[in-house]
Amino acid sequence: MLYEKLGSDVVKCNLCGWRCTIQPGKRGVCSVRENRGGTLYSLVYGKACSYAVDPIEKKPLYHFHPGTTAFSVATVGCNFRCIFCDNWSISQEKEITGENLPPESIVAMAKATGCRSVSYTYTEPTIFFEYAYDTAKLAHREGLYNTFVTNGYMTPEAIDTIDGYLDAATVDFKGSGDPNFYRNFCKVTNLEPVYQALAEMKRKKIFIEITDLIVTGGGDAKEPFIKLVEWIHDELGEGTPFHILRFFPSYKYDGHGPPTVSYLEELWQASKEIGLKYVYLGNVMSHKYENTYCPRCGKNVIDRSGFEVTSINLKGGNCAFCGEGINVVV
Ligand code: SF4
Repeated sequence: MLYEKLGSDVVKCNLCGWRCTIQPGKRGVCSVRENRGGTLYSLVYGKACSYAVDPIEKKPLYHFHPGTTAFSVATVGCNFRCIFCDNWSISQEKEITGENLPPESIVAMAKATGCRSVSYTYTEPTIFFEYAYDTAKLAHREGLYNTFVTNGYMTPEAIDTIDGYLDAATVDFKGSGDPNFYRNFCKVTNLEPVYQALAEMKRKKIFIEITDLIVTGGGDAKEPFIKLVEWIHDELGEGTPFHILRFFPSYKYDGHGPPTVSYLEELWQASKEIGLKYVYLGNVMSHKYENTYCPRCGKNVIDRSGFEVTSINLKGGNCAFCGEGINVVV
């Protein structure tokens, strides 16, 4: 889907921000889309390398059907090269591996396990777009929601194509969107597609939650963090759920420890002062900032313990104590 022929069997892929021009016999940056004689093929369609039933809180999606489970699926491949990737064994895998799992099976398993949604996650869903798209269509027909966990490096055309089937997305920043950090740690030189994709998702009314992974030793500066939070506040809105995630050493980047909890609390405070209503700390177990507090009365409206929702004090989408509207889909 979404490629064009440039002549002499050369093709251009328009799925993600790279917009790769691919010579015959070659693959795109993601390593899973191959030009065979002037036709671009997805090599991972129907090949799930990982699938599981997860709490939707694990995505994290804290404001989209809280307390439900999501059938989660991935294929190998990614369009980023993050040296600290947690899922590097599948995202950076060059060999096309995976179990044959057609869209019909994913939807059947999601229903059989009582999931309310299907989540395209663990690796970047944009690079297995056709597989996600067909599954999402089928899932909707069966009354399930669809969510992406994405780095946001998608083209407006991709969002336009899946619009109507994609209900929510967690869009992950790393190092607060600092261009130097993305260049040096993820091999990505232009972040503009991410901001464009977010604006497009908002226009299409896809429910958005944002994460920012604070990476010690390069992706933990305060200035880009403030800039990112201000952008979220001004462009996406004060009600956008925002998760500040604690990095832990992984893959090729293991020389630094995680950021301190007190520094993350400082960032939490700064985000609230900028005006975001729902700010969370992630990867910090049993912290009071994993709960949802009503922005008006301050009471705990969704209590969490790790990924488990322990109580919900909402009436419809409103605070059960004072009636304030909460930006939550229930
Ligand atoms: S999806 Fe893959 S082939 Fe297509 S533009 Fe992105 S990296 Fe290139």
